[in-house]
Amino acid sequence: MAGSQINVRKLAELGVLQDVGKCIVYLRAHGLLSRQQTCPKCGSVMEEKVWASAKVDGLAWRCPARACRKIVSIRKGSFFEKSHLDLRQLVTLMYFWTLDVCQDVIMAEASISKTVCVDWCNFLREICTQDLLSRPNVIGGVGHIVAIDESLVARRKRGSNAQARPIREQWVFGGVDLQTKYDLKLLHIIWLTNSCTGSVFWN
Ligand SMILES: [Zn+2]
Repeated sequence: MAGSQINVRKLAELGVLQDVGKCIVYLRAHGLLSRQQTCPKCGSVMEEKVWASAKVDGLAWRCPARACRKIVSIRKGSFFEKSHLDLRQLVTLMYFWTLDVCQDVIMAEASISKTVCVDWCNFLREICTQDLLSRPNVIGGVGHIVAIDESLVARRKRGSNAQARPIREQWVFGGVDLQTKYDLKLLHIIWLTNSCTGSVFWN
């Protein structure tokens, strides 16, 4: 979302947060919902139909073959498939999650419960983690300046409780390429394996 500089005003202008149909168009344009569907029963190309039974979305894929008439959700194959939340709520949730705001804000803006919010935030984090680990992201390059910083996210306790289980200290490093503004916030081992030789590092 950062690349297209999307914000709430633009989402509102596009009607994404008001109109579920426009929300579906938006999600399809960004590859988050499929634009076509093959019938899982007979292999025919399915047609999109207004479908009252699809209470949340109002649309469904229907197989045109008379002997089949299979109906599937427009969410089939997407990561919204298992959710019953309104797609507008899900866009709101994802948008505020990308802003790194606290979960109370996400809950209020998306009108969702704490349990749903925690589950989705964990789910989105997991998707990003898997994507990051599956691609050899590279920051820096010859002549590029990479600013880095570190943070201790788990500190060994110095309390008086002798029974307390010792916590392994965990350092996290982040880096941003000042030319490309491409940043990585990840464990140092990933950063070390993906930074490009020839970069200048600031710390
Ligand atoms: Zn079919």
